[in-house]
Amino acid sequence: MISTGLQTAAYLVAAILFILSLGGLSSQESAKRGVLYGMTGMFIAIASTMLGDNVHGHIYLLIAIAIASIIGIVVARKVQMTAMPQLVAILHSFVGLAAVLVGFGSYIDPHAQELAGGERLIHLIEIFVGVFIGAVTFTGSVVAWGKLDGKITGKALQYKGRHLVNIILVIISIILGVMFAQAAGTSGMTYLLIMTGIALFIGVMLVMAIGGADMPVVVSMLNSYSGWAASAAGFMLGNDLLIVTGALVGSSGAILSIIMCEAMNRSFLSVIFGGFGNTSSSSSQKIEGEVTATSHSELADMLHQAQNILIVPGYGMAVAKAQYPIHELVKKLQNDGKKVTFGIHPVAGRLPGHMNVLLAEANVPYDIVLEMDEVNPEMEDIDLVMVIGANDIVNPAALEDEGSPIYGMPVIEVWRAKKVIVMKRSMATGYAGIQNPLFFKENTDMLYGDAKQSVDELNKLY
Ligand code: NDP
Repeated sequence: MISTGLQTAAYLVAAILFILSLGGLSSQESAKRGVLYGMTGMFIAIASTMLGDNVHGHIYLLIAIAIASIIGIVVARKVQMTAMPQLVAILHSFVGLAAVLVGFGSYIDPHAQELAGGERLIHLIEIFVGVFIGAVTFTGSVVAWGKLDGKITGKALQYKGRHLVNIILVIISIILGVMFAQAAGTSGMTYLLIMTGIALFIGVMLVMAIGGADMPVVVSMLNSYSGWAASAAGFMLGNDLLIVTGALVGSSGAILSIIMCEAMNRSFLSVIFGGFGNTSSSSSQKIEGEVTATSHSELADMLHQAQNILIVPGYGMAVAKAQYPIHELVKKLQNDGKKVTFGIHPVAGRLPGHMNVLLAEANVPYDIVLEMDEVNPEMEDIDLVMVIGANDIVNPAALEDEGSPIYGMPVIEVWRAKKVIVMKRSMATGYAGIQNPLFFKENTDMLYGDAKQSVDELNKLY
């Protein structure tokens, strides 16, 4: 057992480690260090909480931690990079569920019954708000998981007057909250249960109303919600570290959501309240031009001639696991004195940083991996762009076609380069389900085939 003073000191160390962890995660070079800080902080947090003098039943805790750790390790080792967003979404749902359970636990906790006056009122508000946020996070995350995993339709489910219904439900919840706060003893349980049901429903409807193209923002927003849910649980349990950690997750998730909204030209509020990103609206613009295809040997020749080459990877690179042969090819091109850079769109792939992680996995040096804002101004100087398994993130309709569902989303403007080769298996659409006029442009050729097989072939020919 450790004293309260020592526990507070341990919590402070853990909180500092969490802040250092977030700082570390902000760049690829320091990401591993960031993860280590986070793991150490979490170890200190769990150990010092377990050793606190108000904790009993250590054996059960240890068994629970052992089982959860085994599940965590197995899942983390098994998960495919392409399925990471689903995993993140379902993990958020656990945080939400935990906040709900902590709320109910705190409410029936005999010690809490001893509170009186203002202290009791504050405790009840913490419980009510915590359970509300937790329940919305729980079902919202489960629906997000279902959508990302293809188990639920990716289309936005909308009905007339749904904003009004949501507002009415929130007002009913507030009224229930007032009744809950006035109820004596644990007699407010019914109000708490009804509100939980309403919040679970709101979570489902909020995320169901969000269409495919907005899903990345939703995942990061649920990340933020799960942070606030954890923070609320911290208030209920009187645990300062949980409050701080939850606030760190909550605010960093919110900041990431805003950055992603900017990257996709969505308004943050419209994403939160759902109903945008529905890709069913169709473009009025007719695509002009003809699609031309090229071959591996022709592309190998083009690579010989080009001096300044840009590679724009997308979701297809992740599916094909083409990052390893791509790095091989890059090394050969660099050995021939060519300038090769990668252009990464903030929402390329299926989760923030997806491409960066894959390229880092294949040991591509960080200094040649540039962001969209760094490559767009230099586009005219690029001799050859290889778009590998990307589609939406290089779609000129985002800038040119006001009727397009992705109109206004910043994209990597590859068509401004001298020559573009799009490497994918067919003319199929990408995540947003819309045609891409890039494929029809005069300076663009298609190289059909699986991205990995194509790059393997290029490695043989170049
Ligand atoms: P897209 O989904 O737009 O396009 C990927 C393309 O890859 C497809 O058109 C497909 O064409 C091709 N492809 C699939 N498998 C292979 C393969 N084995 N070899 C070669 N090509 C392949 O991906 P982008 O990365 O361009 O854009 C990301 C999209 O995902 C955006 O709309 C974004 O909003 C959304 N999104 C992003 C998230 C994030 O956080 N990054 C999260 C959720 C969604 P074909 O079938 O012809 O091969």
